[in-house]
Amino acid sequence: MTIRNFNKDNTEPLHCNSHEVNLMGEEELLVNYNLMEYLKPENMPDDIKIWDETLRDGEQTPGVVLSVDEKIRIARLMDEIGIHIIDAGFPAVAESERKVVKALAEEGFSNSRLLASARTVRGDIEACIECDVDEVATFIAASDLHIKYKLKMSRDEVIERAVDSIEFAKEHGVTVNFVTEDSTRSDLNYLTRLYKAAEEAGADRVVISDTVGFARPAVIKYIISHLRKNLSIPLSIHCHNDFGLATANTLAGIEEGVSVPHTCVNGYGERAGNAPLEEVVMALEILYGYDTGIETERIYELSKLTEEAFLVPLAIHKPIVGENAFSHEAGIHVHGVLAHALTYEPIPPEMVGRTRAFFLGKHTGAAIVDHKLREKGITAPKEKLIEIVNRIKFSAETRSKEELKKTLKEAQNAIKRARGGMTEEEFWKIVEEVLGVKIE
Ligand code: MN
Repeated sequence: MTIRNFNKDNTEPLHCNSHEVNLMGEEELLVNYNLMEYLKPENMPDDIKIWDETLRDGEQTPGVVLSVDEKIRIARLMDEIGIHIIDAGFPAVAESERKVVKALAEEGFSNSRLLASARTVRGDIEACIECDVDEVATFIAASDLHIKYKLKMSRDEVIERAVDSIEFAKEHGVTVNFVTEDSTRSDLNYLTRLYKAAEEAGADRVVISDTVGFARPAVIKYIISHLRKNLSIPLSIHCHNDFGLATANTLAGIEEGVSVPHTCVNGYGERAGNAPLEEVVMALEILYGYDTGIETERIYELSKLTEEAFLVPLAIHKPIVGENAFSHEAGIHVHGVLAHALTYEPIPPEMVGRTRAFFLGKHTGAAIVDHKLREKGITAPKEKLIEIVNRIKFSAETRSKEELKKTLKEAQNAIKRARGGMTEEEFWKIVEEVLGVKIE
C-alpha cells in the first residue's frame, strides 16, 4: 500500500477516500480526511526508511545500561520486523561498547542495515569501521552556541573537520551519514553551506537534528524545504520530544521530503526522549496510508522487550503501546465498542499486536456486565444488571484513596530503584576512597 490516488479535482472529504484497513469496510459510514488528495503532501518521499536510535540515543536515557545479550535480542527483533537501519551504538565510548557493536555486526541481519555513531574524529570513525558496520553516522554541532562554547572552534573549522571525517569514512567503503547537532537553532545559510560541503565530500545523507526539541512543525517544514531545494542527497531527521512534538515534527519533516526519520522504541532517549518508533510507523501506515514494510503486529512485542531491558516503565496512557491505549471503562464507550469497535478506537488493536481491554470501575455501564455474562452463557434481567453495575461503582468509589496513594508512592520508589544509577551517597563514598579524604 502506498499513498492511494484520489480524484484530483475532489477537494471535498468524501466517504470513498478511506483506508481499507482503518475503516474495516465501513467506508460508507466514516469520513477519512487524512487521505484527501487536497491534503496529500506533495514532497513526501516514495521510499521511507526507518532509522532506529534505541540502542544509541535510547540507551542514553538516564540510568539505562544494556547488556550485549539485550542489545542482540532487541536488534534481532528489529531485523525480523523490518526496521531499515539500526544504530548499534558509539564504539569510541568504551571498549565494552565496541564489543557490543562488533557482536551485532557479526549477527549478519537480513533486513536491517547496521550503523554506528562517531564524532567527526578519525579515531571514532576507525572504531566504527573496525566493528564492520554497514553505515557510519559522524556528527558535529552546527549552532553558533555549540560551536563557541562546546567545540571552541570557528564555523570554518567545523566545515573542515566535517569534510575530513566524511572523506576519511568514505575511503573505507561505508555509507556515510553526516549528522549536525542542534540544527534547528543553527543559522540556515551556514547549515546549508556545511551540508553542501558534506555532500561534495561524499556524504550519502545528512541528518537534521532538533536536539533539544525546540522547533515546531512549521519550523521543521521551513528548514527541510530550504535544504531539499539546495541539496540532492537524501535527508534524515532526528527529533526530540521536549515539547511533546517529536512525532509531529518527524512527520512534518517527512511531508517536506525527509526519507529517513529517526525513531526510538517507546520514545526512549535523552531527557523527554525521541520520536517513538510505534507512533511514527503507525501514523505513516494509518494516517498517511503509507506502507512502511514493517510488521506492525509485532510492535508491541518490541515495545515490551525494550521496556524490560531498559527498566523504564511506560506511561499508562502512552499512545499505541501504553497499558490504556486500547482499554475502555466509560459505559458509553464500552457500549459503542461492543456494537462496533471503531466507534471508540482509531485502529483495531490487533494491528499492533494488542488486545482490547475493558476496565471495571466508576464509569462502568450495564453493557459490559451483560457482555461478560453472555460470554459465560448467562442472561440476567435489566434490574439485576443495574444492581451489579451499582456494586462495581460503589466498590470503585469507596476504595481508600489514602491506601492507593501509599501504593503509588511505593511503586514510584521501586521504579527509581530499578532504574539504577548512582546515589549521591554512593558517589561521595567512591570519592572518599579514591582521594583518601573525608567529605562532610
Ligand atoms: Mn539525540
